[in-house]
Amino acid sequence: MDTKKILIIEDEKSISDIIKFNLQKEGFEVDMAYDGKSGLEKFSTCKPDLVLLDVMLPVIDGFEVCKKIRESSTIPILMLTAKEEEVDKVLGLELGADDYITKPFGMRELVARIKANIRRVDLMNSKQNAPSNVQEFGNLAIDMNRYEVRKNGVPLELTLREFELLKYLAERENKVFSREQLLEEVWGYEYYGDIRTVDVTVRRLREKLEDDSSNPKYIMTKRGIGYYFRRP
Ligand code: CA
Repeated sequence: MDTKKILIIEDEKSISDIIKFNLQKEGFEVDMAYDGKSGLEKFSTCKPDLVLLDVMLPVIDGFEVCKKIRESSTIPILMLTAKEEEVDKVLGLELGADDYITKPFGMRELVARIKANIRRVDLMNSKQNAPSNVQEFGNLAIDMNRYEVRKNGVPLELTLREFELLKYLAERENKVFSREQLLEEVWGYEYYGDIRTVDVTVRRLREKLEDDSSNPKYIMTKRGIGYYFRRP
């Protein structure tokens, strides 16, 4: 496996130093930035495989950094949030983070989460050479093997989780799944998050797929139960 590069954007030097030490021990290459602005600059020059992003940062905060990175990239972003800030988790996910970890955290958990997120990207990249398997649903064409989605022929930029959720639902048209089921099936045992993650990801998907995300035609809500995919 080639060396993976992690960019840590965290202003508390004592935290970022210990993270750096542990990641290097695991064979990762590590780059650091201590505020949001230089984090964004580092992001475009060092081309990391994953970004570890603190929420509370000087100059530009973590949410803004996350939003900016998402304008040009779908790489995994893992946010570091303070334990008492429940709202931060959801906001981070809404802005396109893939995962979050709450401070204080154990190094083993952090390393495991980073590895899990990188593994999933490797898996996705390996699938881009797979034979295509395009299925059409109205204006949407989903390549189930290659992780590509087009709407009216135009490719959509989905994150890995967004694609996996879409694929899971589209392959099981009209079948309703609860949030708990989706968390279990799509996010899997490696995920420690809560069911709001599903709602946030559905919302993000709708914004990308639907003409009018408040009146969805593909990903439908079954009130009080969960979500299902419908061919329009
Ligand atoms: Ca901080």
